[in-house]
Amino acid sequence: MANYLKTGISVEVAAANSREVQQTVENILEDIGTRGDAAVRELSEKFDKWSPTSFRLSEEEIQACVDSLPEEAIKDIEFAQTQVRRFAEIQKASLHDVEAETLPGVTLGHKNIPMNSVGCYVPGGKYPLVASAHMSVLTAKVAGVKRVIACAPPFNGKPSPAIVAAMHMAGADEIYCFGGIQAVGAMALGTESIAPVDMIVGPGNAFVAEAKRQLFGRVGIDLFAGPTETLVIADAEGCDPELAAADLLGQAEHGYNSPAVLLTNSEDFARQTIAEIERQLTILPTAEIAGKAWKDYGQAIVCDSYEEMVQVADEIASEHVQVMTRDPNYFLENMTNYGALFLGRETNVSYGDKVIGTNHTLPTMKAARYTGGLWVGKFIKTCTYQRVTPEASLMVGEYCSRLCALEGFAGHKEQADIRVRRYKDQLSK
Ligand code: NAD
Repeated sequence: MANYLKTGISVEVAAANSREVQQTVENILEDIGTRGDAAVRELSEKFDKWSPTSFRLSEEEIQACVDSLPEEAIKDIEFAQTQVRRFAEIQKASLHDVEAETLPGVTLGHKNIPMNSVGCYVPGGKYPLVASAHMSVLTAKVAGVKRVIACAPPFNGKPSPAIVAAMHMAGADEIYCFGGIQAVGAMALGTESIAPVDMIVGPGNAFVAEAKRQLFGRVGIDLFAGPTETLVIADAEGCDPELAAADLLGQAEHGYNSPAVLLTNSEDFARQTIAEIERQLTILPTAEIAGKAWKDYGQAIVCDSYEEMVQVADEIASEHVQVMTRDPNYFLENMTNYGALFLGRETNVSYGDKVIGTNHTLPTMKAARYTGGLWVGKFIKTCTYQRVTPEASLMVGEYCSRLCALEGFAGHKEQADIRVRRYKDQLSK
């Protein structure tokens, strides 16, 4: 039986927090829907103390951001974008249009069609999340989306030059500097100055994730990608407490509400890792955030076997799962619920977050039970079509007519019957 050596905050507290966020988001989205640009400006002033002449950056402002970065930063961004593009192109090549004759004279097919417009949210409240620009904008462009708009909140009172440069280098068609609910709402609902988009993508804090959730239906969304979560699955044969502690705190530093969970098969290993976390918190520059996240949301769970570890891990359905055990492949073969897996001590979540090429926009709050992360496929609609010969129409029409009668659909039945009558006549001549 799994032994919870350390537990996080209660389900009741988490539910109350999320109800409060839901209400705030609902009120703000309604305001943006009614008052458009004026509401966006007021909200930006209120939450970000940011009210520029225009939220959309001009070409000169964008170029100034690119020019202000050191050459090495540009090269590093280029390297990361090359990796993200490379993997996205490989994934895109796995999507095929299909067309086949499923019955004599019946041709069915599907076509993969990129969306026309998307809005990419790049987070920037606590840290300027440059990498999110590659993950959303670049992937949308590889998918073939025509209009890709991107936004991020101001950082230190102005647009983050590194984020703006990364958005531009990734191919964004319009770049805006605003954040939070007002940014998601403006892109999705449209205002006097911004044409609405068909889908909103990208990660963000609880407000951003909830705004996307509430807007789903009115626009498409990629997935529920809220505050970062990490699960480290480790044992003494594949890991050591110093590495496990570094990998837990490395993700806990995202925010006060970022869960970091250790899952192991050894109580000793768990206790040593907890002690090591306390030691590292005395030297980590972001200890204020990471320490609070670990205190409130951190967990350490000890299981009896690998089998039980898989069971508990699938129940948690974490965004990131780092596996540092004797046999990491056991978890690849057996786990079913995760956003992304990081196999072996040689890699880690930070590689995936920043540079290696897999997408870092991943499902949180157990959404990994029903979706993977962002990828080219999320920007592409798979739409079906059909073609039928007169002979096949006559044959299928008779089945269809009876099935319509079964459901009481007279109009549907006549659509079939009219064809059956015509093709019976035509083919009997
Ligand atoms: P953010 O850009 O998501 O949010 C900042 C915005 O939040 C601000 O612009 C402000 O307008 C708004 N805001 C702040 N407090 C508010 C309040 N009380 N009411 C209404 N609006 C408010 O940046 P962040 O806050 O640093 O969060 C980034 C998040 O993204 C982190 O939680 C991180 O873990 C998460 N993340 C998730 C993934 C994923 O794939 N799931 C990937 C990367 C980052």
